[in-house]
Amino acid sequence: MSAFTPEEIQALRSRFPILGRTVHGKPLVYLDNAATSQMPNSVIEAVREFDRTKHANVHRGVHQLSQEATDVHEGSRDRLAKFLNARRREEIVLTRGCTESINLVANTWGRQNLRSKDVVLVSQIEHHANIVPWQLIGNQTGSTVVPIPVLDDTSLDQDAFLKLLEGAAGPVKLLAIQHVSNAFGTIHPVVEMIRLARARGIATLVDGAQSVPHFAVDVQALDCDFLVFSGHKMHAPTGTGVLYGKFEVLDALGPWQGGGDMIDKVSFSGTTFHEVPYRFEAGTPNFTAAAGFTAALDFLEEVGMEKIHDRDTELVAYAHQELSTVPGLKILGTHLPKAGVVSFVLDGIHPYDAGMFLDQMGIAVRTGHHCAQPAMERFGVPGTIRASFAMFTTETEIDTLVEGVRRVNKILGGR
Ligand code: PMP
Repeated sequence: MSAFTPEEIQALRSRFPILGRTVHGKPLVYLDNAATSQMPNSVIEAVREFDRTKHANVHRGVHQLSQEATDVHEGSRDRLAKFLNARRREEIVLTRGCTESINLVANTWGRQNLRSKDVVLVSQIEHHANIVPWQLIGNQTGSTVVPIPVLDDTSLDQDAFLKLLEGAAGPVKLLAIQHVSNAFGTIHPVVEMIRLARARGIATLVDGAQSVPHFAVDVQALDCDFLVFSGHKMHAPTGTGVLYGKFEVLDALGPWQGGGDMIDKVSFSGTTFHEVPYRFEAGTPNFTAAAGFTAALDFLEEVGMEKIHDRDTELVAYAHQELSTVPGLKILGTHLPKAGVVSFVLDGIHPYDAGMFLDQMGIAVRTGHHCAQPAMERFGVPGTIRASFAMFTTETEIDTLVEGVRRVNKILGGR
């Protein structure tokens, strides 16, 4: 039985106004949800309503508008803490996005804890956002970034991981690992990997950019020190993000960016800092978007995270089955389970060329290296064509993609 009836999927689709538009005269087939998801009416309306009636700076004014805006902004923190099953609301730091969250950890925890020759373990198919901040901080601390190799099916090589944990490349201080690969959709066994790391006193960061939008993520069950993700990939407005950190871990960290709101007392003889999480939230936050973030979490929970995951699994299975009938097409990322992503290459056809042809047919897919150049290098390709799904994606849209790929094959590949 399908996770949703066809009527339920149509009802879901009708909540996303953008799905009603055309592209190059064709109905939009939006298969780029892993890059940015779309916003339902309830999120768009929550933002508009905030701007119409409550728009004022937070934490600062005693006036009514400021207090109402603060309630909305801080309400999104409460909602996020509940969504992630955090122990305390103070464990939620509101950021501009996943990238900023990782840079925050690198510049606070990393600066305080990494020493010369220490190793930060990442996966070989990590997003650049979870590689480069560790390299930058490594330039200052002398620590290095070491990749956990992946097997041909894009799963992580667990034997190699164990050897690395045991110090094969140097003393490991941090495991910074994606939960789900944005390039291939692979769901990694992070619970077990975190357990192995923690047993050796190694700190852990999970990049949840592609997992938190697709299935229930419980930070207490994960038992990671940090979890990071972005709002715009989970039907919330852009410019929103989260750094979850265990309270005692966050509390031991000094600040990163300085400015308003993150201080206790400022004087020219010295400054003291605010408590967690405000210590990490310098300057005016994106309070308008916070209203939308809360509405997005309400939407996701109303639809149901379990159903969203089940629907992902159905769509991935259908897309694998249909795409593998196309001559010259190779799927990268055959290891299951996966979350809402199918990545493939066409023999002799550059992904960019394919993407441009598909766009002419109204199909929005991502082509290129997906900010994971080492992953592309591992598989010897310049990039892939990536279709990524949401709960509103239909089998008919996947059929349109497959038909489009067949046409690309004929025009560009002569097949
Ligand atoms: N990590 C992963 C796995 C991602 O997919 C992305 C976005 N593609 C990021 C990090 C960075 O997210 P953002 O650009 O929203 O900061």
